[in-house]
Amino acid sequence: MTAVTPLHNQDLSHHWMPFTANRAFRQDPRILARAEGIHYWNDRGEQLVDGLSGLFCTPAGHGRREITEAVSAQLGRLDFAPPFQFGTPGGFHLAREIAGLTPDGLDHVFFTGSGSEAVETAIKIALQYHRRRGEGQRMRVIGREKAYHGVNFAGWSVGGMVRNREMFGLGMPGVGHMRHTQIADNRFQLGQGDHGADLADDLQRFVDLHGADTIAACIVEPVSGSVGILVPPKGYLERLRAICDRHGILLIFDEVITGFGRCGAPFAAQAFGVTPDLMTMAKAITNGAVPMAAVAASSKVHDTIVEIDQGGIELFHGYTWSAHPVACAAALASLKLYRDEDMFARAAALSAPFLERLADLRRFPIVQDIRGYGLLGAIDLAPAETMGARGFGALKALYAAGAVVRVTNDTIILAPPFVMTAQDLDDLFGKIAGVLQAM
Ligand code: PLP
Repeated sequence: MTAVTPLHNQDLSHHWMPFTANRAFRQDPRILARAEGIHYWNDRGEQLVDGLSGLFCTPAGHGRREITEAVSAQLGRLDFAPPFQFGTPGGFHLAREIAGLTPDGLDHVFFTGSGSEAVETAIKIALQYHRRRGEGQRMRVIGREKAYHGVNFAGWSVGGMVRNREMFGLGMPGVGHMRHTQIADNRFQLGQGDHGADLADDLQRFVDLHGADTIAACIVEPVSGSVGILVPPKGYLERLRAICDRHGILLIFDEVITGFGRCGAPFAAQAFGVTPDLMTMAKAITNGAVPMAAVAASSKVHDTIVEIDQGGIELFHGYTWSAHPVACAAALASLKLYRDEDMFARAAALSAPFLERLADLRRFPIVQDIRGYGLLGAIDLAPAETMGARGFGALKALYAAGAVVRVTNDTIILAPPFVMTAQDLDDLFGKIAGVLQAM
């Protein structure tokens, strides 16, 4: 075991941390220094169970030797090459592999460095698609309340988490938000709720208000992740698809969290049987080892932009880190691991024991709602006087008890690694029950 240097007594002020209460953190730091399998060790040497797969990133567990070796070999072979006007073997190989996992027809893959960039890319592709078809007036993008699509300008504009929006002004013009799907009728409903398919008709209302010929795309997370695992009501996604089809609107699924097995199928699109025109993915694409994300596009969208000869570059868009050779190597090794270890089927099989344990938490009076699908779960806690205080208290108490989870406001979010056993789940849920009991 490698020794780690305790950090909690050092000056921590130089690192301006993302989505973190920086000053509070420095008073009471949580430093994760090492990881292996489903566990972390902090800088005090204490073991913690990973209830979040990193941040939805490491379904195969931490420190997988196969990925380490692939990354190391790639660094020795080709560390970097310009992604514009040059290609590397890994990018083409990986795109082919991903096209084998995406729903039929989503066969063209554009690589980015993060989920936020994937969202911006998908929206730009949608806008360009309509321009190429001579419908450049289609510039509106419809998102949804309580959605998270990353932190870049288009992403937070179409997103619907208030605190991610309120500091930054007006955002992208021409954006509308459908109502969210967290409704009282579906409270404590694990899996898809029976109520709320008609909320998809909000998209039709935007069509009626603005005209279909002004709307480029509708973007949703099939399961809203960061806001607290909002599972689509039965029939909801199908209805969105039908409205998009009727009016020539592109449907974008943001599968940054749900991609690569989290819902028991390669993508949530397959789990719910609804195929979008564009689909983002990130996080588990490299089992968290190297930053990478992507957009898969249907042939209809891709061919409209790429196969109609305009002379020269078809899409004026790209990133220095697009298809980074080391990220491609990490992703190829991860996808091989997922295949060799039947990881998506394991996720599907682990879902029932996971949801069972999740449902059992209803017995604590502090729990106001529980939602879950696949290996995603959320527990809403009764708020204290200040919104978010109870959730943050739970995060700290769980850390002290030896578990890493995510909280959004007063909601605990769980996304266990697919390699957990029933006993590992017992350990995680035992810690959660202990904390809820004490609250
Ligand atoms: N879209 C969704 C659905 C996400 O959950 C996230 C991050 O959690 C993003 C986009 C942004 O991804 P990133 O943090 O890699 O930019």
